[in-house]
Amino acid sequence: MTPYRLVCTDCGGSFDPAAAEYLCPDCGGSGPPGHAPRGVLRVEFDRPSAPFPDPAFPDARRWHALLPLASPDLLPPLPVGPTPLHHPARLARELGLPGLVLKDDTGLPTGSLKDRASSVVVGKARELGRDTITTASTGNAAVALAAMAASVGLRAVILVPQTSPIAKRTQMLVFGATVVPVEGTYDDAYALSLEATRVFGWYNRSTAYNPYTIDGKKTVAFELWEQLGRRAPDAVVVPTGDGVILAGVHKGFCDLHALGLVDRLPRLYAAQAAGSAAITRACERADGEVPGHAGARTIADSICVSVPAAGRWAVRALRETGGGGLTVTDDEITEAIGLLGRTAGIFAEPAAAAALAGVRRATREGLVRPGETIAVLVTGNGLKDVAAGGRAVTMPEPIVPTLEALRRRVAAEAS
Ligand SMILES: *Cc1c(COP(=O)(O)O)cnc(C)c1O
Ligand SMILES: [Zn+2]
Repeated sequence: MTPYRLVCTDCGGSFDPAAAEYLCPDCGGSGPPGHAPRGVLRVEFDRPSAPFPDPAFPDARRWHALLPLASPDLLPPLPVGPTPLHHPARLARELGLPGLVLKDDTGLPTGSLKDRASSVVVGKARELGRDTITTASTGNAAVALAAMAASVGLRAVILVPQTSPIAKRTQMLVFGATVVPVEGTYDDAYALSLEATRVFGWYNRSTAYNPYTIDGKKTVAFELWEQLGRRAPDAVVVPTGDGVILAGVHKGFCDLHALGLVDRLPRLYAAQAAGSAAITRACERADGEVPGHAGARTIADSICVSVPAAGRWAVRALRETGGGGLTVTDDEITEAIGLLGRTAGIFAEPAAAAALAGVRRATREGLVRPGETIAVLVTGNGLKDVAAGGRAVTMPEPIVPTLEALRRRVAAEAS
């Protein structure tokens, strides 16, 4: 494995991985209450000695030279990528963006990009000899953790604060996780998971709190680079809640840049729902603070976040790369589910469709140009939230079984 240190993204403190497990030991979690926490750690690798990518492996293991794991074989056996990169001609024409590409993570083992993070974190738990992993989450992160843990025989204890789409809750249970509903808010469940981590010695997967979630998610950037012929796109649009996918994409392209494999970073854009927009709002501030969006609400449950765990890193990445925030309404998200489905044949959950809604906004505002390569991350499968998909369509009434009735119906549909 390539040696690495953990460097604080706020105070710059540098730590041996044995001396810092989660947030920065010096400044972690400090700052104004209700704001994005300080002290998210960043994995800084030495120059890799192994090949990158390593052609000996077909899946995520081929990135092992830049994964923070002692061995590629620590990764769970469920293959995490590469996922398809689509060039959706009909959708591209509709949007007037011939260079549009869709990075389609809907087919990952549990149907969302979160598999990338959970697989690396479960690998880390195995390396450290921990047998129980916990997280506070209502959704895809917990689902992915449950599956990855099941595949290697580790125990997953998931603290669920409130309701999430029924498919996600069912997935966690089917994967055999211990699912513990907690009375109170997400913040209460999160605080309890940290306490359990301290007292019971469990390993904690909570997003950005565990720095390896970011290096797990970054493999989506590596795949994009490879699938675009070893170059970076001009822009990447990322559906954003906690900001960890965004930080991961940024980290991935920074790693590639450090190796001289790309000559510049793509512009990064965060697509957020108007009712959960802490990161896009913070882009307009000069002081780098990221106040939470109290009482966040949107149909896109996976990006419904009041206090974004990686908010500070995300805002810096948007600024540094010359990108920015794209705020979209719930109606625009629902419309984007339909557009993606009927022009590209992809069924996205609302959070994933938010990225496409974001692209439409970016086009209207002249932030992206037709000649550019614009990558949109389709982060989660629509089957996880069929009720939301149902709002994008009209359920047809049955007809009497006669040719005449069929002719009338089809004619009405065509008009
Ligand atoms: C978690 C998630 C996101 C947002 O990721 P963050 O790291 O919280 O910003 C987007 N889409 C889907 C489907 C997700 O599960
Ligand atoms: Zn620090």
